[in-house]
Amino acid sequence: MMLDINKIEQLRELFAEPRKVVVVGHTNPDGDAIGSSLALAEVLTVRGHKVICALPNNYPYYLRWIPDSNNIIIHRNDEEHQIERAIDEADVIVCADMNSLSRADALGEVVAKNSTAKRVLIDHHLYPADGFDIALSYPESSSTAFLMYSVIVALYGKEAVTKKVATQLYVGIMTDTGNFAFSNLTPALFEAVAALSATGIDIPQIYNNVYNSFTEGRARLFGYTINRKMKTLLGGRVAYMSLTEEEMRRFWFQQGDNEGFVNYPLSVKKMKMSAMFTAQTDFIRVSLRSRGDVDVDTFARRYFNGGGHKNAAGGKSFVSMEETIAHYIKSVKEYHEEGLV
Ligand code: 5GP
Ligand code: MN
Repeated sequence: MMLDINKIEQLRELFAEPRKVVVVGHTNPDGDAIGSSLALAEVLTVRGHKVICALPNNYPYYLRWIPDSNNIIIHRNDEEHQIERAIDEADVIVCADMNSLSRADALGEVVAKNSTAKRVLIDHHLYPADGFDIALSYPESSSTAFLMYSVIVALYGKEAVTKKVATQLYVGIMTDTGNFAFSNLTPALFEAVAALSATGIDIPQIYNNVYNSFTEGRARLFGYTINRKMKTLLGGRVAYMSLTEEEMRRFWFQQGDNEGFVNYPLSVKKMKMSAMFTAQTDFIRVSLRSRGDVDVDTFARRYFNGGGHKNAAGGKSFVSMEETIAHYIKSVKEYHEEGLV
């Protein structure tokens, strides 16, 4: 990943005087959205800017320990309209870990209303939307946090990466790479991790805080989902699972409890693609994962109004669970007939 020097200079100019900044992340925020947003906020705050981090909805309980995460304002719970006011007054709005304002739902609409603030994009998803004054879009980066590390170092040097910033960034890198197991694991990434490690961050502790901090209900829900709900297609090369609201209630479901379930079918050697359908209040959330050449970004765009990355994507379905599953089975068949899975 080679950062565009012109864009770094544009950012440097933008932050040459004290700014009112709002950093926005995507709906159903993950470790990468939160870690990269908070790291940027910390670095800019230390340099005299007034920064607020805003998210469309709440984030999972096992990310609540991240330094400064309690300062994030959740738009859906923001009864005092702090976010609307901050966005209205902002000089700069940074969208982190999202390629379009639509990924932040109602919060994105609030951002769209401010037509005077400079809009900055720092992201690693495919197909960045138009309308950003400075767009740092690097789909080849394994996480936005790694990209954010590179941006911070390019702007302010390695000294800007304190232990706190390193912890925030490490969470994003660790979660988006599946603890260094997914694609785009470049030497430059490990050089960044070496620099983060040099600040004294506690890597096993960060791992435990995220991956070994679940509830008993989550462990039982996981067993249930794999054992009872995993179905396969195409002779065991494609899988899908679903969870209804009733099933989630049975296991005391909390937001984020099914995060990562969709990866598990891919631990079966011949599995190429996996889907998870999770009932939400108004729609069904679709999570997709694949291996190798099977492109779930295209699949999500074509069949589920979504997108993401080649091997990890998501979308939404606005019909019943039965209809969603039927649509998936039909779509997989079509994809197979075109030789795409
Ligand atoms: P997850 O399955 O973890 O929710 O999402 C996997 C990837 O797909 C993430 O990179 C996420 O940003 C992207 N993604 C998830 N849901 C959507 C969606 O509704 N629209 C788009 N464009 N991308 C999504
Ligand atoms: Mn990400």
